[in-house]
Amino acid sequence: MASRVSLVVVAAGRGSRFGGSLPKQYAPCAGKPLIAHTLEALAGAREFCAVTVVIHPDDRELYDAALAQLSDRARATLTEPAFGGATRQASVRLGLEAQRGLEPEIVLIHDGARPFPSPALVERAIRAAEAKGAAIPATPVTDTIKQVDGEGRIVGAPERAALRAVQTPQAFRFDLILDAHLRAQSAELTDDAAVAAEAGHIVHVFEGEAANLKVTTMKDLAEAEARLTAPLNDVRVGQGFDVHAFEDGDGVWLGGLFLAHDKKLSGHSDADVALHALADAIYGALADGDIGSHFPPTDPQWRGARSEIFLRHAVQRVRERGGELSHLDVTLVCEAPKIGPHREAMRARIAEIAGVTIDRCAVKATTSERLGFTGRKEGIACFALATVRLPG
Ligand code: MG
Repeated sequence: MASRVSLVVVAAGRGSRFGGSLPKQYAPCAGKPLIAHTLEALAGAREFCAVTVVIHPDDRELYDAALAQLSDRARATLTEPAFGGATRQASVRLGLEAQRGLEPEIVLIHDGARPFPSPALVERAIRAAEAKGAAIPATPVTDTIKQVDGEGRIVGAPERAALRAVQTPQAFRFDLILDAHLRAQSAELTDDAAVAAEAGHIVHVFEGEAANLKVTTMKDLAEAEARLTAPLNDVRVGQGFDVHAFEDGDGVWLGGLFLAHDKKLSGHSDADVALHALADAIYGALADGDIGSHFPPTDPQWRGARSEIFLRHAVQRVRERGGELSHLDVTLVCEAPKIGPHREAMRARIAEIAGVTIDRCAVKATTSERLGFTGRKEGIACFALATVRLPG
């Protein structure tokens, strides 16, 4: 069963680097305060058992005005705001303490000024916290980094391959991070990863997203506004097709589910034809290669891979272009196994992997009237369509 996941959104800062007349999290952006976009994006990513925003006591009116702009969905699990402390660290601790009685298993801690957390990122955060206890999103560093002394002289150049730029949501087992905050000795740790590390926990990283912008300057705010207001008028439809042959086995991976069967599908990965066709449909809509070009079958690291990796990657490519996935439509062609009994679970699973609501995901199945290779039960074929909207 899925974990009870809560969310703490930190929005108590004064924004000293920002320079506007309002703290940046309340700066108007595309018609709403920035924090309203952040909360809306998180609510769209998954249902949280509780959402607590940590605000500065002076900002109550600004916060209430921001709430007035939220959808019912984004307001549904909001608790009373927590009032922050003198530092980010103190604010997070107060937010966590406010959720103590709600007994979440996992908590995500997110910056109020990061308005683009994608559903895929949120999902990765939760999975990582479930598996590792403490995990944060990170992206590779592309600039060369130099270490300098107080007089601006270069004193070191850390190996770039070992460096990561870290983001939020940072994700933890709730008890672990609350306990780490309560025991923290240092008062100004830079983030929750540092708090967990000081308490002796190993903190892992998972894949962050370049699109997960943190608004720090006016220029960042302008970029966020441009992204939020870009009309997604460039509507694309992509097609994907895939076939895998049966071999002896005890079940097939299909649409992200394992279905018991007297055969399995042979292939380099888990041979999930539905997810392969869907990923290719999305790559097709983007005119961005195919599964084989992104995940070469000659690369041994994809041997036996779960095909959800491919679909998540394709969806991420849409988001990186500032687009949205509108619709997925799959047709499986086989005599067996029977798809009908699993259709709704398959829709839900594909929707979850792709980060869309289930009403945007269709699964259909047909036989080929015992004709051809599918009719002879030699394998399964799958057709897929993806509709994508890009800025334009
Ligand atoms: Mg395939």
